Amino acid sequence: MKVLLAAAEVAPLAKTGGLADVAGSLPKALKERGIDVRVVMPKYRGVAERAEAPLKRIGTATIPLGAQAASIGVLQTSIAGGEVPVYLIERDEYYDREGLFGHPDDLKRFTLFSRAVTAVPGVTGWEPDVVHCHDWHTGIVPVYLKRLVTGLRPATVYTIHNLAYQGTFPKSATDVLGVARGSTAFHDLEMGEYLNFMKAGIVAADRINTVSERYAGEIQTREFGEGLEKVLQWRGDALEGILNGIDYDTWNPRTDTEIAATFGPDDLSGKAKCKQALQADMRMPARNVPVIGIVTRLAAQKGLDIVEAVIDELLAADLQLVLLGTGEPRYHSLFEKLAERLPDKTGIRLAYDATLARRIYAGSDLFLIPSRYEPCGLTQMISLAYGTIPIVRATGGLADTISERGPDGNGFVFFEYSPDALLAAVDRALAAYRDTQRWTALLRNAFACDFSWEQSAERYENMYRCAIAARGA
Ligand code: ADP
Repeated sequence: MKVLLAAAEVAPLAKTGGLADVAGSLPKALKERGIDVRVVMPKYRGVAERAEAPLKRIGTATIPLGAQAASIGVLQTSIAGGEVPVYLIERDEYYDREGLFGHPDDLKRFTLFSRAVTAVPGVTGWEPDVVHCHDWHTGIVPVYLKRLVTGLRPATVYTIHNLAYQGTFPKSATDVLGVARGSTAFHDLEMGEYLNFMKAGIVAADRINTVSERYAGEIQTREFGEGLEKVLQWRGDALEGILNGIDYDTWNPRTDTEIAATFGPDDLSGKAKCKQALQADMRMPARNVPVIGIVTRLAAQKGLDIVEAVIDELLAADLQLVLLGTGEPRYHSLFEKLAERLPDKTGIRLAYDATLARRIYAGSDLFLIPSRYEPCGLTQMISLAYGTIPIVRATGGLADTISERGPDGNGFVFFEYSPDALLAAVDRALAAYRDTQRWTALLRNAFACDFSWEQSAERYENMYRCAIAARGA
């Protein structure tokens, strides 16, 4: 089976969040199942420097974009130690700049990219059976393939990583998209007053999934559906939830070269060194108190407003709070002020920093994820791999991976989205931290968790087969 995976970010080449982790690690697991998987992404600034293999120029294409045509270059590199080829779509005018998305011309940038995805077989001579698209940036690919390609087309799979980012544009965008008003493709995209790339992917793909069972159910409700719940209900038969995995070769405290000392379940002395190093990194006193870590995009989704509401009560306990994140200005100013006010109890870094993230996973005792909603969440899985116990709100993938009850409990869970519920969960976690026997059992359970890609890759393979069968239907 031949699968082309199209994504707007792919680790380690370009990353802002979990989508990149998934697009960078799922292909490796598919490859291990014997699937010929290849990846396509834009050639952003900095990709060449992060690539494991020098970029090879393999061809060009001319892509319709509005009334004009844009020429693109296609280059090739690889991920996973040469195992998975990556095609890079080059058009410097659009991709050679700081920041992956959020530019005023994103419509053009991702329309061009989506069209370029459909041109990959022509340039490379390699014909995929399935094109696997991710999130709004590539939501229109299934429309192009289903409505505009004549003859045998690849089957399409569309994965929703976060329903809140939909890629909505005014209807005048039809000019850029090359879609006629009133056509079937136009109706795929149309959502009320706007054109909506996310909706297009949901409607036009042969199969759809999201990244946990729980979130697959949640997004069909008004509370979590972001206005698309009806469309999702309508496609309910083609929709499933497949939990993301993490790559334990990448996230491994036994081999991680960026943390202060390596460690594993049988020897935690390295973890103690990582804690001291983290306290030094963050200019906090080296005290033997619980350290709570947070690594996150600073967005409303991530539940920082309920942290804000109890921050003084939280920090009244004898603990230290470490936060690494970047995003909305209101959270930047909140945490900047906090750092000034309580320098000994907080370590705040408002940036994107992959190395510091690892040092926080390794050096913290607890890890806080109070999300309002969370499609899957990777940081709870990464924390567990580093023997750091998550405190989570029971939503989406957090609910599917963390449990507080029973002999296999691997964290602390609160249900109601409220400051009090959060504080109560932190109190339970601190009580467990003081109880050596309970803490040892928690650490054992944390290290025993296995969220590797194996099972989920098998489910993706099955979904690809269903998509191929559905294409003919
Ligand atoms: P989301 O995709 O919603 O941001 P996930 O939990 O799925 O959330 O994935 C987040 C990923 O991004 C993790 O690998 C996390 O370590 C990383 N990350 C988030 N913020 C930062 C940051 N400021 N610096 C470094 N890594 C970050």
